[in-house]
Formats: sequence, C-alpha cells, structure tokens
Amino acid sequence: MLDPWATSQVKDYDRIMEEFGIESFDPSILPDQNEQPRLFKKRIVFGHRGFDSVSRRIKRGEPFAIMSGLMPSGRMHLGHKMVIDQIKYLQTFGANVYVGVADLESYATRNMPLDKARDLAINSYIRNYLALGIGKEGLEIYFQSKRKEVKDLALLLGKKVNLSTMKAIYGFNEQTNMGHMNAPLLQAGDILHPQLKQGPIPVVVPVGVDQDPHMRLCRDLAASYRLFNATETADGKIGVFVKVDENVDKLLNKAKSALEKEGFLDFKMIPRYKALYIQGAARSDLTSIDEAVAQVEKNEGHFGFLPPASTYHRFIMGLTGEKMSSSKPETAIFLDDEPKDAQKKIMKAITGGRESAEEQREKGGRPEVCSVYETMLFHTVDDDDEIQRIEDECRNGERLCGGCKKEAAEHMAIFLQDLKEKRDETEHQLNLYVREE
Ligand code: SF4
Repeated sequence: MLDPWATSQVKDYDRIMEEFGIESFDPSILPDQNEQPRLFKKRIVFGHRGFDSVSRRIKRGEPFAIMSGLMPSGRMHLGHKMVIDQIKYLQTFGANVYVGVADLESYATRNMPLDKARDLAINSYIRNYLALGIGKEGLEIYFQSKRKEVKDLALLLGKKVNLSTMKAIYGFNEQTNMGHMNAPLLQAGDILHPQLKQGPIPVVVPVGVDQDPHMRLCRDLAASYRLFNATETADGKIGVFVKVDENVDKLLNKAKSALEKEGFLDFKMIPRYKALYIQGAARSDLTSIDEAVAQVEKNEGHFGFLPPASTYHRFIMGLTGEKMSSSKPETAIFLDDEPKDAQKKIMKAITGGRESAEEQREKGGRPEVCSVYETMLFHTVDDDDEIQRIEDECRNGERLCGGCKKEAAEHMAIFLQDLKEKRDETEHQLNLYVREE
C-alpha cells in the first residue's frame, strides 16, 4: 500500500506501476526532447495517469491547467524543487497554474495550527516557489481553508465514496480521525475545482508516486459524476453510453450534435442501449470524444469533470542514502540552508565511489548511485556538456570523490546564495499571487 502521509521509500517502481496500473512515461510524448528538463529526459518522471489528454492539448496549443498542492509541515528541500521544475516546464505551454496550500490537511494530519501553517506557507514555500522561477502568468495561489468552492466540492464528493473504499485505498482504521479521513476529499476538491470555473479541461498534477492514492480516488470521483462514458466496447466499437436513466434520448442527441462539430459524421444511435456508436472512430479519438461530451454535461448544468492527469517522479536520493526528508535534516539540502552548511552536508554525503582511490582509478565510480552526482545532475549544473564530462570522468576513474564533492559543494553554495537573493526579492510579489478570499 502507498501511504501519501508516510511512504518514504520505493524499492521497486516497476512493481508499483504494475500493481496500480500506472502507465510508463515516454518523454517523446512531449515536444522537443532536447529542450526538456533532465527530470523528463532522464526518466525521473517515470509514470503517469491520463497524460495523453494533456499532451494532446500541448500539441494543439490548447489550454490545460496544472494543479499543485503544498502541505506546510516542514522545511522545503531539493526533493520539493523537483515538482516546481516540472511545473515551470509545463507552464511554458501556456497552462494556468493553481497552487493550493493544504493548511486544513496539515492541521488534520500533522497537527499544524492554521496560523502557523499560513506563516510557513507564505514565508518559506511560496517564497521559494516564486524565487525558483515559477511563471507568474496564470498563477493562482490559494489556501484550502479560505477557498469555499474547494470545501463545498469536498463535501459533495464525499457522497460518492464510502468508508470501505477509504479503508481499502488509505488503510484508515477506527482510530483515524475524521479530519484526516476528510483530507483526501479536500485534495480531490483542490484537483477538480479548476474545472468548476474553466469547464471540462485537462488538469495535470505532478507528484511523487506516494501520492498516487489521491489520484486514483480523484479520478474515480470525477467519473462518478459523469453522465456519459466514452469507451471502446469488447468488440472494438467506439461509443458514448449514457450512465443515467433520465433524458436519455435528449442526451444522446446532444452528444451527437457535439461530436458532429468535432468532425465525426457517421453514427448509430440505439436509445434502448443508451448508446451512440461512432462509426469510423478509433481508440485514439476517445480523448476528444470524451471532452466533447463532457462539455455537453457542463452545458446541461452538471460538472462534466474530465479525469485529472498525473505525472509521477521518483524519490530523490538523500545524502545519507535514504529518501531526502524534512524530518531527517542530515538527508536533505534545504532550500533555506546556509550555503556553508549545505557545503558541509555534501562533503559528508554518500557517494558512488569505491573503497580506495586506487580502486576508483582502476574501476571508475558509479554516478547512478551517487547522491552528490544527483545534486549536480538535477539542481546545480545546467550545462549538458559539463554534466556529461563529470559523468564520463567519474566512470573512467579520472575523477575522485574528494575533489568531486568539493566541486559539487561549490555549485550548491552558488545555487543557494542565488536562491536566497531571489527569495529576498519576493517580498513585494506575495500580495500579487496569494489570493485572499
Ligand atoms: Fe560521485 Fe563524484 Fe565520486 Fe563519481 S567521483 S562517485 S560523481 S562523488
């Protein structure tokens, strides 16, 4: 079981993908692989659910949205930065970005008072988001506790899920407090609420794989409010099926009109089966078909939620070999670490080096299991030629860990100093992006 509040290590990503039906993320689904951040190119983003709907929008230059939650409970570290790096890249394709401060969740699951959560969110998380260069165009930052649509939606969504399901997904038991039990519904409210305003639109949530239970629940909840199911039948036909018993003829005719506007011309409608078959359509058309009929639902006064998409990244290696974690300062470089403290941590970090300098010269190092190399690869060395040179020198034994750590520590100090200066400049920007409601 993946626990969004406690899972800290995943040993076998392939098994997780197979067990929970996560699809493999192929970077070629995004434009121009050379321009992609290394997180995508190097397959640190390894899986997804429903990202095809987003990539289709990217290719067509059509709108989509990005949702990101932050739970103020500890200091931000390099692992948190990976989500921001993904958002920054996906934003370049014109998406609106919603950043929800999960202060209610932090209260329910981490015992964090709301005023403290607010302070931490503003003075640490949001400042770092802005300092790391999250795009300001279409950016909206809000607090769960202040956004009425999110709380109302969470209450409505609760109608569609029972205790057995929550126990099966999250392992809740008789001791779980109701606030904690409600936290996943608030998350679903966060993720789905952009579609209240923008209508049916693909929303992507970049997360660590430990957050997948929330995505599974949220996608099921979105589907439970739908009137239509667009699918391929067992005998290979593409069709739209009405899921409710009222107004079936009207809904089928509205769906047909909407699909005609999408360029589909040949239909077979069978009202007694509540079915509209689309002749000549292929499985690859299902995304556009679903979007068209979701809009019909919205026009009829229903939610018409499209299932939210997600991307999953691996956990970053901690400096001690464990997962990088806020609760274990020795494992992490915090974004507000003093540069000299971060340098000391890197000098003590676990590497992929050999037992002795002699063995290292002979056999070469192993950058693929080196936490120091990862800091440079994902955070501090942008130049592709330079990072390739570092990797080659490590593998062929020309590079020894002592000097390499010193170099990585200097890169980190420059990065943190620069971030600190940018954070100081964010003071006057906070009011522009944090919505007071
Ligand atoms: Fe890591 Fe550098 Fe040592 Fe290679 S030489 S294992 S990259 S610290």
